[in-house]
Amino acid sequence: MTDHETGTNGPSSVETILTHGGRFPEDQFGFVNTPVYRGSTVLFKTLADLDAQSQRFLYGRAGNPTTESVEAVVSELEGAYRTKLVPSGLAAITIALMSCLKAGDDVLITDSAYEPGRKFANGFLERMGVSVRFYDPRIGAGLSDLMQPNTRAVLAESPGSLTFEVQDIPALAAAARANDARLIVDNSWASPLYHRPLALGADIVVHAATKMFVGHSDAFAGTISTTEEAWADVERIRTLLGFFTSGDDAYLVSRGLKTLAIRMKEHQERALEIARWLEAQELVTQVLHPALPSHPDHDLWQRDFTGSGSLFSFVLAPAPRSAVAALVDHLQLFTMGYSWGGYESLLLPVAIKTARTVRPWDDAGHLFRVHIGFEGVDDLKADLAAGLERYQLAR
Ligand SMILES: *Cc1c(COP(=O)(O)O)cnc(C)c1O
Repeated sequence: MTDHETGTNGPSSVETILTHGGRFPEDQFGFVNTPVYRGSTVLFKTLADLDAQSQRFLYGRAGNPTTESVEAVVSELEGAYRTKLVPSGLAAITIALMSCLKAGDDVLITDSAYEPGRKFANGFLERMGVSVRFYDPRIGAGLSDLMQPNTRAVLAESPGSLTFEVQDIPALAAAARANDARLIVDNSWASPLYHRPLALGADIVVHAATKMFVGHSDAFAGTISTTEEAWADVERIRTLLGFFTSGDDAYLVSRGLKTLAIRMKEHQERALEIARWLEAQELVTQVLHPALPSHPDHDLWQRDFTGSGSLFSFVLAPAPRSAVAALVDHLQLFTMGYSWGGYESLLLPVAIKTARTVRPWDDAGHLFRVHIGFEGVDDLKADLAAGLERYQLAR
């Protein structure tokens, strides 16, 4: 791994990239890990150095060796030209969108997008004179029909937050390209291990690094990886807006990435086992997991993904809200909370209604989003089974 900016040193397996990428022990007195760099001021030795502005680091806000060590690994994993580490997944989405848009432009956003991203578009981009429209996540090549001459960006997320629709990224990319618009894909669910949107034609890939990359529910971060063409706009907007990620947080991302491959594998197997088990339960009317043959987008998932994540949803037969409380309030292992991607399992009841405008969601039953962590799978099943029993009794 020789190039500090890309980490590129020829083709490697993802496991090798994760364990060896972004590390430069010869720069760190032989210590294995790139340490936490804390620093704002970077010193110049001479006036000539100050005038030349050609040092590797000029000011800490643009990054430091700890942030760069993460960026190098993510670039290699995504097959990207460059990656920028930013303070949160939401910041990755907002910077990516702003890098493509100006007043008078139009943006198309999947109706299944992470809700704070939608809120940014409606609450901020519209105020700045951008028109915001949403599209059916299953639209595929039909996206062409929605394109306007001023459409400059498309925000996809595959599979979608909460409802897990898989999107036809090559078709969306073709429609965007034909209209001179950039396709941004939120790839947080699959991670670059199981899905590589840039290879399928996307221009920008964002991650909530807070989730799978960090992996331990103890830090916030986001990444933006781009093609060579899209890079300058992303880095310019990030610089102008003053987004900075600390060396401490970058270190936690770097530490998490070391085990990403084995964690993803474990998450995948455990989540699938629980999803299949749930599918067999009488009260469960739907399990929304793209790797299950029953999922409406299973073929698309099989075509474009090489694995699946920790996160999926299921729907329970209609019951009063008190039945939901009976289920979640007495769980022993699953806990309730936002975010996901950590070692601990989470179960979150969610109402979809307000988060969809193009494709209204039928909220007849109750939807639960699940993140499967590293507890014993049989213990998790027992916890859910007891919860389902309480739900049934309270119906
Ligand atoms: C959580 C999440 C985000 C936002 O990440 P934060 O780090 O919490 O800002 C973006 N996209 C998806 C799919 C997420 O689940």
